[in-house]
Amino acid sequence: MIDFEYHSPVSLEETFDLLDRHGEDARVMAGGTALVLQMKHRFSRPGHVISLRRVTGLDSITLDGGGIGAAAGYEQNGAPGSVRVGALCTQRRIETDPIIAETLPLVAETFSRVATPRIRNMGTIGGGLVHGDPNQDPPPALIALGASVTMSSSKGERVLPVEELFIDYYETDVQPGEVLTSVSIPPAPPGSGSCYIKFLPRTADDYATVSVAALVEPSEDNMCRSIRIVLGSVGVTPVRAVDAESMLQGQELTDSNIRACAGAVREAVDPLEDFRGSPEYKTDMAEVFTRRAIERALANVG
Ligand SMILES: Cc1cc2nc3c(=O)[nH]c(=O)nc-3n(C[C@H](O)[C@H](O)[C@H](O)COP(=O)(O)OP(=O)(O)OC[C@H]3O[C@@H](n4cnc5c(N)ncnc54)[C@H](O)[C@@H]3O)c2cc1C
Repeated sequence: MIDFEYHSPVSLEETFDLLDRHGEDARVMAGGTALVLQMKHRFSRPGHVISLRRVTGLDSITLDGGGIGAAAGYEQNGAPGSVRVGALCTQRRIETDPIIAETLPLVAETFSRVATPRIRNMGTIGGGLVHGDPNQDPPPALIALGASVTMSSSKGERVLPVEELFIDYYETDVQPGEVLTSVSIPPAPPGSGSCYIKFLPRTADDYATVSVAALVEPSEDNMCRSIRIVLGSVGVTPVRAVDAESMLQGQELTDSNIRACAGAVREAVDPLEDFRGSPEYKTDMAEVFTRRAIERALANVG
């Protein structure tokens, strides 16, 4: 392991001050599940590691609009209906949180599919998003729901859609001195159905060979009011299949229309060759798993 100085600030102000002072020589650490591996393999060599573990206010789950949130003693905050998840909330906490299970079932389902309980007990929502690995599970579901992140620094705050956070392979839009402080997740439209499916031909705790989050809002006469299809592990960033979505939007939800929509996903993906499969194989699987995801999302309408 490389030599570094470890800092453990207790406030965001102290964190921003350390980041401003040490600049590019500093890295923040949340769960450490990705950063420590990068440091062991010398992919990252920070002289200063700034742990977020003792920083107060980054591990809350807040819900706007009263009702169940207020009844459960949760703080009230954020845009109407959205759940604001602190960046330091672990994947396991999100998977098991009763408010998230009730208001954002797609999120609870997705986080339960990340790696193993050992990793989920350490890995955080903020660390995973900033890490920018295109094989990760949470980004497709968060993009499908239209989630946004708040980035904070000594200069103030900015909010950007999760969809815009991913720039390239392991490259995310985090400016110098910034900390991802929270993720705001709107609920799915009433009457919609959703699902997250992960193709795992190797082991149950592997990264996906291909993954798909689908969110479909059918009308009473079986038309598609709205649809979101977002795939993981099929490019250098998560991929939202906008053209495929537009093939089903406003159309009848027939088997042939769903198949045509899934087929259009082939044009949106550009998978990398690796030990999980060739680009051709992953493209075939992207089509198959998109069709299954839409069908399962429709079965989940309720
Ligand atoms: C064995 C193993 C299996 C895995 N399998 C899966 C899987 O199946 N599916 C899946 O989705 N993921 C998987 N992961 C990845 C795991 O989800 C990530 O490692 C985890 O999400 C990273 O979160 P962390 O809190 O540990 O981040 P850290 O390791 O602490 O940090 C990761 C990066 O984010 C930066 N960072 C952290 N927090 C912030 C913040 N708040 N603001 C700004 N920058 C920040 C750090 O500087 C670093 O660059 C696996 C990891 C391992 C080790």
